[in-house]
Amino acid sequence: MTGRSPSPPSSDRVRPDVAVVGAGPIGLAIAWRCAARGLRVVVHDPVPGSGASAVAAGMLSPVAEAYFGERQLTGLLLASAARWPGFAAELTETTGVEIGYRTEGTLMVGLTGDDLAEARRLWAYQQGLGLPVTPLRPSELRDSEPALAPRVRGGALAPTDHQVDPRLLVPALRTAAQRAGAVLVPQQVRELSDVDATVTVVAAGCGATALTGLPVRPVKGQILRLRAPDGVAPGFRHVIRGYADGEHVYLVPRADGEVVLGATVEERSDTTVTAGAVQRLLRAGVDLLPELAEYDMVEAVAGLRPGTPDNAPILGPLPDRPDVLVATGHHRHGIVLTPITADLIADLVLGGVPDPMLAPFRADRFFGGATVAASCRPEPSVEGDLWS
Ligand SMILES: Cc1cc2nc3c(=O)[nH]c(=O)nc-3n(C[C@H](O)[C@H](O)[C@H](O)COP(=O)(O)OP(=O)(O)OC[C@H]3O[C@@H](n4cnc5c(N)ncnc54)[C@H](O)[C@@H]3O)c2cc1C
Repeated sequence: MTGRSPSPPSSDRVRPDVAVVGAGPIGLAIAWRCAARGLRVVVHDPVPGSGASAVAAGMLSPVAEAYFGERQLTGLLLASAARWPGFAAELTETTGVEIGYRTEGTLMVGLTGDDLAEARRLWAYQQGLGLPVTPLRPSELRDSEPALAPRVRGGALAPTDHQVDPRLLVPALRTAAQRAGAVLVPQQVRELSDVDATVTVVAAGCGATALTGLPVRPVKGQILRLRAPDGVAPGFRHVIRGYADGEHVYLVPRADGEVVLGATVEERSDTTVTAGAVQRLLRAGVDLLPELAEYDMVEAVAGLRPGTPDNAPILGPLPDRPDVLVATGHHRHGIVLTPITADLIADLVLGGVPDPMLAPFRADRFFGGATVAASCRPEPSVEGDLWS
């Protein structure tokens, strides 16, 4: 593709330089970055911010989520997390909105001996990559979070894994994009031919499949929101990711007293909340942090992560359509990947040359034949393990 020069301010040309399809965190951040660099931008979305981000926990966890076999994804997660401090500061400065960016770090814990053994295998892998994971003695663990259950067997600290509140982030991105000149059009895009712009960026989360044929599938996540009684802050400061009798859960404390407790990972496309999932989440959460039993139960909700066959996002031109860029398939990582996705896609729109960092995430890695058709087909309804 060729780079786009900003439209001259005096031009009466109405055709946008960039049309972004989808006003979730990814689409809005791209719109902000493009508009701030002088491009004429429109963003299409019937209900901005109504996708996965509306329920997301907001963990920025490249270290705790560095999994076996995902090294390239881990590299992208780390690079994006490194941009988060500056991104958060710039967004708050631009909009005046605090987005709940917190840097206390993440504690990873195991409840039983078996849980700890499983956790330690992953920590060893993460340490082998040179990532900052510090195993803690039981006394150190208790000192850092006294509210943890006494029977928690052990833990480790990932000090550079932070958090943000997606319910504050997305409205702030919308404000920033609009202040930079982006125009929101409250309409669904049914086909790419509906859009008239020099470059179209498909950032529609799970909606990208219908528009592009890419293998993005919904991965359901059920998640709970609790609230500490009497308006006080939760009795713990770190994000806690725990293995509890084989269940994997996380607990994200917010300054206003909210605690996000998640989440299931299910190969389903509905957003119903099931009693069984709520029971499993609460049991694991309370086993790790007994004080949660006294919290108010505020919300039980489900969202659909935009998953891909290799769990990594799809970033760059659509094959044979250099005028169509995709930025989707962020799966469990769309919040942490927001800054780097926005920067790399805006650079590509303006410069026309893909950054080498985009190479592993090209769309054409899926256009080898049967992969697309097989992966787009919804899986049978199977409730998966609890995970992030
Ligand atoms: C339970 C749960 C917990 C999560 N926790 C985390 C976490 O802790 N950390 C993290 O990094 N990520 C997390 N995620 C993942 C994260 O929410 C997603 O990766 C992220 O929201 C993807 O952003 P997006 O903008 O691509 O898509 P979405 O947030 O899904 O937004 C897509 C937008 O596109 C619009 N749209 C769709 N189709 C069309 C169309 N045809 N025309 C116009 N508009 C359209 C929708 O209305 C929507 O507003 C979690 C997700 C879930 C479900």
